[in-house]
Amino acid sequence: MTRKEVLENRQALMNVTSRGRPPHPSLIVALPLPKDVNVSFEFFPPTTEKAEQSLWACVERLAPVNPSFVSVTYGAGGTTRERTHETVVALARDTDLAAAAHLTCVGSKKHEIRDIAERYWNAGIRHIVALRGDAPAGDRPYRPLTDGYAYASDLVADLKAINDFEISVAAYPEGHPEAASGEADLDNLKRKIDAGATRAITQYFFDPDVYLRFLDRARAAGIHVPIVPGILPVTNFKQVQKFSGLSGTALPDWLAGLFDGLDDDAETRKLVAASVAAEQCRVLHASGVKDFHFYTLNRADLTFAICHMLGVRPDIEPNGITN
Ligand SMILES: Cc1cc2nc3c(=O)[nH]c(=O)nc-3n(C[C@H](O)[C@H](O)[C@H](O)COP(=O)(O)OP(=O)(O)OC[C@H]3O[C@@H](n4cnc5c(N)ncnc54)[C@H](O)[C@@H]3O)c2cc1C
Repeated sequence: MTRKEVLENRQALMNVTSRGRPPHPSLIVALPLPKDVNVSFEFFPPTTEKAEQSLWACVERLAPVNPSFVSVTYGAGGTTRERTHETVVALARDTDLAAAAHLTCVGSKKHEIRDIAERYWNAGIRHIVALRGDAPAGDRPYRPLTDGYAYASDLVADLKAINDFEISVAAYPEGHPEAASGEADLDNLKRKIDAGATRAITQYFFDPDVYLRFLDRARAAGIHVPIVPGILPVTNFKQVQKFSGLSGTALPDWLAGLFDGLDDDAETRKLVAASVAAEQCRVLHASGVKDFHFYTLNRADLTFAICHMLGVRPDIEPNGITN
């Protein structure tokens, strides 16, 4: 190819790439930094002293970005009843964060759940993430105890009758695996809202369109409370692959491709994970989403980086003075 042809080719390429486009490349991260994002963080109760230190280091790093609330999960099968309680109460007592307790129906009779709810209320906890939970492996599907709650909607109604808790519930953009149909699952979400829940938090998903289509369907079904996307920064793809089978979350091929070959390279997996989740959030924000709930897995670094890219930052002036 002659030099003239090379120059002509380059010019043709530039004409193609710049035609009708703004001067910036079409990178989503080149859009103006959001200034209207609210975040919340989910932690799990620690089981060892080391895990406890990790949790509090995570809380210390993330608290300065001012989450609207933080929540603490309730172990599968109700196994962390006391630890969840201790962690939520410590968050409320020792930090300025608004702390919420997850509570499931598994393995408990109604009067036991009512006692737990009263204890939370008396400890100043006003926000419950009310869930049905899952039966332990080998004992599925879930069957309520005699005098237990069959569904989360029953738990929501009862919690509201006990005290005026703020209640969040779970939503499933790809449908709950046990639901008879997508429509039946939306009916169930509506029942939970009608029973008194004021927010839904979604199961994690990876394709923003999946969430946006679900949001449209929910609005059309008359559900008008915030439906906050649950964001899972994936650092261990193999683990997520296993869990997604149970939770019914689709793992797109492109995601598998991005993590391919990184099984023994945790550092690179982290970089990939932050970039995937940040792009997911920025695409959602560009579609009008302003609230995000992060499954932190008690690790701050990725969530902190993604918050930073969403314009959610500690209240620190450039000169280092805290607001
Ligand atoms: C944000 C979030 C946080 C979570 N936190 C925890 C946690 O801390 N601990 C934990 O163990 N698990 C947790 N989970 C997982 C959750 O417990 C499971 O997904 C569980 O299988 C369903 O809980 P649910 O509250 O959505 O149940 P429900 O809303 O009761 O729904 C369960 C199933 O029953 C169906 N259903 C509901 N009502 C009826 C009805 N009247 N007739 C027929 N079918 C009906 C629904 O469509 C659905 O398939 C969480 C999930 C999410 C999304």
